[in-house]
Amino acid sequence: MSAHLHGTFVKGCYRCDLSRDEMTAQITEEAEEERWLRTRMVDILKRTAAALKGEPEPEMMHDWADLPDVAIRLRAERDQARAELTYRWAEEN
Ligand SMILES: [Zn+2]
Repeated sequence: MSAHLHGTFVKGCYRCDLSRDEMTAQITEEAEEERWLRTRMVDILKRTAAALKGEPEPEMMHDWADLPDVAIRLRAERDQARAELTYRWAEEN
């Protein structure tokens, strides 16, 4: 095959059509990967929100923006409850 030398797209050039098809295939593949990743992220966020806040009402969706804060607050509450139990147990024994 001869060298493909022109720098811009030339209508009717087989090699130009070939690289355009390759680019389209690459863009399509990237879009599919992004769609797959987005679907997976949405699933993770929905399940995390349900785990931290309980199942949402039907047709409703939890806010996701505060999930890190909710997790931090719940951990702090757990640590405090654990510390209080340990303190009470030590006082009683
Ligand atoms: Zn060409």
